[in-house]
Amino acid sequence: MTPPAESCAPDAARPAPSPSPAWGVPVDGWKPLLASRGLPAWRADQILHALYRDFVTSWDAVTTLPKELRSELAREFPLKPCAELDRTESADGTVKLLLGLDDGNSVETVLIPAAGRFTQCISTQVGCAMGCVFCASGSQGLVRSLRADEIIAETMAARAYGTVTNVVVMGMGEPFANYDETMRALKILNAGKGPNLGARHITLSTCGVVPGFARLAAEGIQFELSVSLHAPDDETRSALMPVNRRWPIAELLAACRDYTARTKRIITFEYTVVKGVNDSPECARRLAALLKTLPCKVNLIPLSPVGHRPDFETPPESTMMMFLDVLMKARIQTMLRRSRGKDASAACGQLRLRNLIRSGDDGKTAPLAECLP
Ligand code: SAH
Repeated sequence: MTPPAESCAPDAARPAPSPSPAWGVPVDGWKPLLASRGLPAWRADQILHALYRDFVTSWDAVTTLPKELRSELAREFPLKPCAELDRTESADGTVKLLLGLDDGNSVETVLIPAAGRFTQCISTQVGCAMGCVFCASGSQGLVRSLRADEIIAETMAARAYGTVTNVVVMGMGEPFANYDETMRALKILNAGKGPNLGARHITLSTCGVVPGFARLAAEGIQFELSVSLHAPDDETRSALMPVNRRWPIAELLAACRDYTARTKRIITFEYTVVKGVNDSPECARRLAALLKTLPCKVNLIPLSPVGHRPDFETPPESTMMMFLDVLMKARIQTMLRRSRGKDASAACGQLRLRNLIRSGDDGKTAPLAECLP
């Protein structure tokens, strides 16, 4: 007697579920999904192996599965790789990709090679609603948030260039404004039977959406957390980052303090130095005073010039050294960061902007966020 063909087809009594993109399925979700279709648990391991060890981008390539099952998976759990719309490579090895989504939107991702590491900077939204004035994604507004499977698809697009060892969520968008889908994607990246990226190799960066801190602490996963601070007083910060009007510095730092207490993790503060705006010795001293009692590190970043604000300029090296000196004397661990990939349309969004301009669009939806290793 021939055994019944293995199938994940719904029975007649069950309405056909709508397709759910495969890369958005949580790693531990496959077994129950398959069980509910009468399939054995080991099929889940085969599927996970194909997805996250072999990095298949089509079910047809999974020859360990019966043909019928492959086509049913393709129907119910489609794989939707991003189209590579553009690429720029810089002399320092940084590669920036413009990736096309199903609905015609596009996002950027940056691949940053460094000694023993291959870091990918990923986007979580098309555009951004946060409106930081030195960041072009902010100036152009939010188009939409990405789904988890689209975020994973970004990481799959990087595989053609090497094995990603670190992921930083510092591309287009505010991860805490797309918390659920971002977290779903990061948990997939982190899962042992997924891409198996260590939590400490995954860094989230937020502009300070305060409710996100308690939610992240409650996850109990040791992701790295960066906070874009960029100013030591409310007046300057609100002028640079509208989010500060909703959650001013005292509230933000209270959330940071609570986060470090609950997780026993340190926070990295990003401080982009803008000439004549937040670069005075007084700013440096106030920054040191603010952070002195917090378990934290500081990354000092010289502004990367953006086309829409020619009045914002990169500070001279001497200003960066002055800041470094003040913070170090206050015993705050501080790093001077440099932007990578300047000749590859440096800041995130520039590649997309260039393409929009090329195609006659005025770039109104072009996001521009700086990506930093
Ligand atoms: N929304 C998140 C992550 C995206 S931006 C956040 O705000 O943290 C990643 C980092 O690049 C942030 O620190 C952001 O403030 C910074 N950035 C954006 N534009 C920049 C520019 N032109 N020069 C230097 N840093 C910039």
